[in-house]
Amino acid sequence: MVLDSKGKDLFKYNKEYVLVIDAKPFSLNNYEETLEDLMALNFIMKGENIDFNYTDVMKNKGKLYYKISESTFNKIKRLNNIKGIYTYVYDKVDKKEAWSTSGMLSNIGQNKSVKDSFEDKLYNELKNNESPKKNFYLDDSAVYNHEEVDIKKENKNLKLTIDKELDDKVRNVLSKEEFSKYKNVGVILLESNTGKIRSMVQKDESYANINLGIEGQGFEPGSIFKLVTYATALEKAILSPQNTYVCTGAVCKSAHGRLTVNDALTISCNDIFGIIGNEIGYQSMVDYCKRLGLYDRVLNLQTENKNETLGVMPKEDDGMNNFAIGQCMTVSPLQIIGAVNAVINNGIYVKPYLVSEIIDSNEKTLKEFKTTSEKIFSKTTSEIVRDGMKDVVKKGTGVQAKIEGIEIGGKTGSSTSSDYTTHSWFLGTFNINGSTHTMLVFIPNLKSEKGEEVGGGNTAAPIFREIVKEINKK
Ligand SMILES: [Zn+2]
Repeated sequence: MVLDSKGKDLFKYNKEYVLVIDAKPFSLNNYEETLEDLMALNFIMKGENIDFNYTDVMKNKGKLYYKISESTFNKIKRLNNIKGIYTYVYDKVDKKEAWSTSGMLSNIGQNKSVKDSFEDKLYNELKNNESPKKNFYLDDSAVYNHEEVDIKKENKNLKLTIDKELDDKVRNVLSKEEFSKYKNVGVILLESNTGKIRSMVQKDESYANINLGIEGQGFEPGSIFKLVTYATALEKAILSPQNTYVCTGAVCKSAHGRLTVNDALTISCNDIFGIIGNEIGYQSMVDYCKRLGLYDRVLNLQTENKNETLGVMPKEDDGMNNFAIGQCMTVSPLQIIGAVNAVINNGIYVKPYLVSEIIDSNEKTLKEFKTTSEKIFSKTTSEIVRDGMKDVVKKGTGVQAKIEGIEIGGKTGSSTSSDYTTHSWFLGTFNINGSTHTMLVFIPNLKSEKGEEVGGGNTAAPIFREIVKEINKK
């Protein structure tokens, strides 16, 4: 089982109903005693399979299994005089959920894991697990009537950092009519100071997991990366937030003129961040990025055909103008939220993690997983960037994430994918029960509608806002 932080089962199941006829005891049915029930069985089962005939079944050997509907199941259950038959229900994991976090972790062992990956580690812990079994016993008169569920006591379960309630709230928002035009959306919610992934969902879980950039190279983060550039420049004492720079419109569509760094962040000026990037320099920027977990696997999930992306680091030739504004690179949503969370979390990078414990059937902890952390930026740097993020939502590109009475800081991002569609991002921070959280909303491959340019500000930010509202609903 894969459980959330409160011990709730994270799977979605479909009920499957089965009728089993054990031919030998079934052939012992006495016509006088059970004819009526046998005729009823015949009639009910013909609804499932027109060729069903109990006299034919009696000529068989061994057990015969019939997948039946719920209504057939309920009717057959009432036929309790017939010898040699029984029914059972089992929970089949919804295959549509294959790429959800719990779905992926439930498949451990089905794909060959890469040595020393986290998946390999989990496999070694769980490989002796057995599937739940149901035992059926024949009584003296050959009627099956005793059913017992026997789940192996020694089975180990995975406990995740996920809170199912939060997952469900995010899913509620993503399935709203107003967002029906988005085929897929990825959302990750982190508890800032612990690195616990409290929610990680995508609108369509049948897609290869976009939050982890599975089976791909990740996505260009665009302007949400400016938060990393800003923090790095502050940390290296290249600037203070009141410093001004001039946007000549070299990269921006129109010249923004002279702005403070804080205002450049608020309106997301590319020219000014390009200048700042050049002042930081390539090697310094790369060093900070690596310490922030970029271009490396966060969860280290690796199997033969299911790899979390490494991302792609910009080359020196790509130029700091591009690097500083999140271009010429790719990241997974999980990588970039981890990196920016360090800026938000008083400068401390905490590697996001998903599996907190392996527990036994009595919920006793057998193994606990710890994450790593490293101080990257000063508290002052963190405070300055957080203030800048508040301005983005108050009066900048992120106004559509604003909610009266709730303090939200954030940053928008838009980037162009290889097929000329837009990736939209909104990365922000807010409190849940007094504790700081960081959340990322990501919409891949958006097509621009006529007359309206799509970007993080008018697509991902409203979803962010609605999720915060949903979480705050009592
Ligand atoms: Zn500009």
